[in-house]
Amino acid sequence: EPQIALAGRSNVGKSSLVNRLAGRKALAKISSKPGKTRSLNYYRVQPDGYFLVDLPGYGYAKCSKQERLKWAKLIEAYMKDNQGLKAVAVLLDSRLSPQKIDLELTAYVRGLGIPVIPILTKADKPKQRELAQLQKQWQDILQQDRAPVLFSSKTGKGEEKLWNRLGEYAGL
Ligand code: GDP
Repeated sequence: EPQIALAGRSNVGKSSLVNRLAGRKALAKISSKPGKTRSLNYYRVQPDGYFLVDLPGYGYAKCSKQERLKWAKLIEAYMKDNQGLKAVAVLLDSRLSPQKIDLELTAYVRGLGIPVIPILTKADKPKQRELAQLQKQWQDILQQDRAPVLFSSKTGKGEEKLWNRLGEYAGL
């Protein structure tokens, strides 16, 4: 089945986003499949019929080298040779300039031939002009025609656009 993964640094607003999305369409949480690690949360998007796969947050400041390696292994095992994985929605904190770790992740995902859907979270915070600048910056980095989706879990800004974009990559 088609899957879209959700990735982002710890504290980027990923759980708030999932909760917000769950208000609009039914997100049925699927218990982990046997053999799959429990740190991936699968949600079936109803009635569309694709899966959102919530990946563990990365780049937590105090995390040890061992934990980082574990995360990298998990991500690699999940993403490599995964025909169902149609895109990775990468959540980026709109209050921060592009961070090294986010650049690394987006480069890795694209290196596997998987499209990246950039989402700027907490978009209720920065000024409009700063948001536009950051959008342009990410657009240049990722060499994409379209600007990143501006999203706020607080106000609901960008929710419709985000659903449309996810559905588009999921093949709806
Ligand atoms: P996660 O670690 O990526 O799951 O992040 P959380 O969803 O737990 O959010 C981290 C912090 O950011 C919390 O204090 C949230 O209240 C805050 N936050 C999340 N989304 C938004 C948003 O859209 N706007 C604002 N202003 N704050 C947000």
